[in-house]
Amino acid sequence: MYDNLESNSTKYIIERKPEIWKVEPSTAAKNCRNFIREIVDNLDLKPNPEKPVIALSIGDPTVYGNLKASEEAIKAVQNVLEDGSFNGYTSSVGNQEAREAVAEYLSHDGVEVNANDVILCSGCSSSLEHCITVLADGSKNQNILIPRPGFPIYRTLAEHVGVEVRYYNLIPENKWEADLYHLESQIDENTAAIVINNPSNPCGSNYSEEHLRNILEIAYRYRIPVIADEIYENLVFPGEKFISTASLNSCVPILICGGIAKRFLVPGWRLGWIVVHDEIGAFDDVRKALNCLSQRIIGSNTLIQGALPAILKSTPQSAFDSLIGTLLRNSQIAFEGLQQAKGLTPYMPQGAMYMLVEIDMEKFPNFKNGLDFAQKLMEEESVFCLPGECFAISGFMRIVTTVPEDVIQEACTRMAEFCNRYYVK
Ligand SMILES: *Cc1c(COP(=O)(O)O)cnc(C)c1O
Repeated sequence: MYDNLESNSTKYIIERKPEIWKVEPSTAAKNCRNFIREIVDNLDLKPNPEKPVIALSIGDPTVYGNLKASEEAIKAVQNVLEDGSFNGYTSSVGNQEAREAVAEYLSHDGVEVNANDVILCSGCSSSLEHCITVLADGSKNQNILIPRPGFPIYRTLAEHVGVEVRYYNLIPENKWEADLYHLESQIDENTAAIVINNPSNPCGSNYSEEHLRNILEIAYRYRIPVIADEIYENLVFPGEKFISTASLNSCVPILICGGIAKRFLVPGWRLGWIVVHDEIGAFDDVRKALNCLSQRIIGSNTLIQGALPAILKSTPQSAFDSLIGTLLRNSQIAFEGLQQAKGLTPYMPQGAMYMLVEIDMEKFPNFKNGLDFAQKLMEEESVFCLPGECFAISGFMRIVTTVPEDVIQEACTRMAEFCNRYYVK
């Protein structure tokens, strides 16, 4: 059988035609879509060469360099790096002291978290992936409810594992609260989880205790667990109070996702967490399954885990206050600036790092839709904002409020000029 091996191999080399051999990616991989990229890559984005580009589109607070990680956080990482004690593997659910530090950090205002309830993940995105994967089963035709407008990664993660997403509407005039009737109407016997994102990306909303209770009441009535994306916890403006779903004693089993990316201004450090909040033992098996899921990548970056207790304990309140001050000032500048723009309605946020602006498309007959509007705004004013379509809503655009003050000011001036030029009564 092996006699002809040599001549056979030679023959294969001679006949090799690279173009006829294609490797087919798996269905799971093909089901993995980035909805922001799909939209943005299809826009023809050519800035006006006369005007410097202002990107109000990037949800990374570090890009302009005006917002920096605290010295304490940087020192914390330096210390563990030099110390050399966190170069190895740790438990896949996370280092014990780091989990204890997260538990302590989140235990306030009636919330009590135990270190055993905490799983450390590779960023909050990875926390969300675990939560969706552990609760929803694509092979059983299950679905999850997600907010519209909302962060597109929920859909990416769900559809990747064959889980259907169903949107529930948020109401702009009600500070982007969920339309509870619509939410309830989306539930069926295959609904495996309801995702709540508070404070919200892209809305910048911060829900009241009453509204959160109303959502949890529906979840309780239908016995549906909740995934609460609380990555913007405590990033709320003065006079607002952040309420964690964990503080409400709702009897609803909740997986809370969070991390240090936004509040600590270090998205690249990739450290997130899941807190299993379960007053009634409903999640006993889910806890074990989450443990298994964490073993797929043998846990998250150990170095940052080693620094986590010091990051969480020693970052001074003044660092958070200063960030919130910037977000509030920028939101006010944008809110006032864009009210000068005919055909635009800005919705003042209560927190997070974003503001949604409604575009009265009927008053802009020159533009086919919100995508066209965003494209022309770039072409003429070199200002780029993500169209609402990236968040599953049309007739809106999202601006980020983490940029320097003079940048947001200039962007709003240009946007107002643009709108006033094209507005038709
Ligand atoms: C930024 C963001 C995340 C992702 O956080 P990472 O820790 O960077 O993975 C999750 N949810 C929302 C709503 C976000 O805006």
